[in-house]
Amino acid sequence: MSLKKSAGNMYPWVTHTHSHLRGGCPHRCGYCYVQAMERKFSGGHYTGPLRLEEKEFKVNYGVDRTIFIEHCNDLFADDIPGDWIRRILAHCAEWHQNNYVLQTKNVGRLVQLLANRAVRWPLKFMVGTTIESNRWHDVMGKAPTPQLRIGNFKRLRSYWPQVPAFITIEPVLDFDDSELIEWIAMARPDFINIGADSKGHGLQEPDAAKIMRLINGVTAAGIPIRQKHNLDRLLKS
Ligand code: SF4
Repeated sequence: MSLKKSAGNMYPWVTHTHSHLRGGCPHRCGYCYVQAMERKFSGGHYTGPLRLEEKEFKVNYGVDRTIFIEHCNDLFADDIPGDWIRRILAHCAEWHQNNYVLQTKNVGRLVQLLANRAVRWPLKFMVGTTIESNRWHDVMGKAPTPQLRIGNFKRLRSYWPQVPAFITIEPVLDFDDSELIEWIAMARPDFINIGADSKGHGLQEPDAAKIMRLINGVTAAGIPIRQKHNLDRLLKS
């Protein structure tokens, strides 16, 4: 695999995706499209033990791109060896005229690494995390709880305010609107994305009125909503 033009519809502002990691993502989210594809077409890149694909470190990232790194895994999951993270970030840093998107549900580890001088970060990068709900849902698998994610996201914003950061509420799961709005307002992301499950996983989803309260509350807090993805199905329900 090499650098790929972003063809999916998750983030239209991402121009390319690239992965060095192979093997199954340790978080095992029940709604994961990557894992679902792997089950359908067995023997792909993203099953089995975690490993690195050495040839991917030779990929030319070019210039002026927005590249989502490790979009089929979580680079900062606890099971990823620190040396692998350093090597992947160093590859990004080498191609310094791009902007890199680093999305993780394990924001605490990313924050720890930001304080580590042994890590060479790219010149331009942004951090994202997924908060599907303020509540725990079993489909969140082995990922850190939403409380942990938002707490560490707030640490990121406090200690590293210069790092652009966003929150993605996708796939949105049933939530308590006043608490979720408060979390987002306190965390002050640069923007949020909201999206619904598009793969028919039968998730516990909020109703239209609740989603509208979330959209209005976040907007009133002055936080831009960059993308509303696949929400029509829920807003018409
Ligand atoms: S964190 Fe992302 S890649 Fe990993 S299992 Fe969950 S949805 Fe899939």
